[in-house]
Amino acid sequence: MNHLPNSIEARDAAVHMHPYTDARALQQNGPTVMAKGEGVHVWDTNGKQYIEAMAGLWSVGIGFSEPRLVEAAAKQMAELPYYHTFAMRSHTPAIELAEKLIGMAPKLENPMSKVFFTNSGSEANDTVVKMIWYRANAMGQPQRKKIISRIKGYHGITIASGSMTGLPANHGSFDLPLPGFLHTGSPHHWREAADGESEEDFSKRRAQELEEMILAEGPDTIAAFIGEPVMGAGGVIVPPKGYWAEIQKVLKKYDILLIADEVINGLGRTGNMWGSETCEMQPDIMVSSKQLSSSYLPISAIMLNDKVFEPIADESNRIGTFGHGFTGGGHPVAAAVALENLKIIEERDLLGNVREVGPYMQEKLGALTAHPLVGEKRGIGLIAALELVTDKQAKTALEKPGALGARVGAAVFEAGLICRNMGDALAFCPPMIITKPQIDELVGKVEGALDQVAGELGL
Ligand code: PMP
Repeated sequence: MNHLPNSIEARDAAVHMHPYTDARALQQNGPTVMAKGEGVHVWDTNGKQYIEAMAGLWSVGIGFSEPRLVEAAAKQMAELPYYHTFAMRSHTPAIELAEKLIGMAPKLENPMSKVFFTNSGSEANDTVVKMIWYRANAMGQPQRKKIISRIKGYHGITIASGSMTGLPANHGSFDLPLPGFLHTGSPHHWREAADGESEEDFSKRRAQELEEMILAEGPDTIAAFIGEPVMGAGGVIVPPKGYWAEIQKVLKKYDILLIADEVINGLGRTGNMWGSETCEMQPDIMVSSKQLSSSYLPISAIMLNDKVFEPIADESNRIGTFGHGFTGGGHPVAAAVALENLKIIEERDLLGNVREVGPYMQEKLGALTAHPLVGEKRGIGLIAALELVTDKQAKTALEKPGALGARVGAAVFEAGLICRNMGDALAFCPPMIITKPQIDELVGKVEGALDQVAGELGL
């Protein structure tokens, strides 16, 4: 880093504690400070340009610096910069956004009928947990509160959402998960299937393990199962054939609610408007954030069906209120921006672009599996990951877990491309406006970085 005391990097390191960061490494090396963004690109304060192949945090779907979102925010700021929706109040942006989301929701056996607004994916998932507990009490089933999620699932970092997340970094030293949060096996076939086990058989085995867990715990203690249709932060894991059908059979048998965490999948990412459509799921609750506003402002939305809503409504009537909500929930400026963002996704047919450019990206990244450092390519639509290995047969990487991912990630970054190394996987989730020539450039940079590291390792 630039160690001059008044450099922007040194000023940051002096006073700013960062999320998801090795605090000592930051003090030593300083951050990369971003200055501007345009389309699929961002520039740091030194003027270096990057392709932002993670769309920020899987979230800037329409790309950077869209003037229509700026205008929508400015207009709402000038008209009604703030209002809340507590205690019989409302405002037009929240109403219009709720209508829009219900209109865009998948066609389900039990359709989504209500929307509750929060500010982040974590807040939304914490709210879902509380809704489920409240509902269980309302239904005279106070013992029915346990929630099952999956190893490698990601649902956020607050106390309850962090408990549902199934990744070690979110539990270790934080004293999580809380009791009552259970984790079943991940759907990662390549890594976890037995030798010669087909995708279908692996899916059946995962469903059987889920059923065994439910029976061991007592089916009348299990309230809900939460999953991302396609896993994101746990390594972009596309469910194997038959997975969700098998899992849903078990959930149905024991009358367990299904929550689809669409925070990354939702609004086009997987090639359908919702991951639940891609994976043929019938959720009772859907959670959306990130691409909901393309992350120009924080906002998240929980959609629920009547099966979930009706008992909650009765209980709130008995108590006199649903005693839960955030000052900023459904913030009018964020809601106005989200609404404009959804219009842009539709008007510019970004879903069409995902369907055309997505398979192209998958094919190009897939070709990299011929490279000595690439063990697996995973992905669907415009979300993908490469699993890096040094020994393809053994599916192992360098001795220290994550070291190979970090090394290739650093080389990619040096080349002017931002992707995310998650352990030894490299993730790609570019803005949904990305073009084929930009994909060529992206893949070229990845290939260059792989060659460089392979050369250094003598592979
Ligand atoms: N759910 C999923 C599927 C996510 O990917 C994330 C964020 N990566 C969250 C929840 C949490 O969202 P937030 O960071 O806004 O709290």
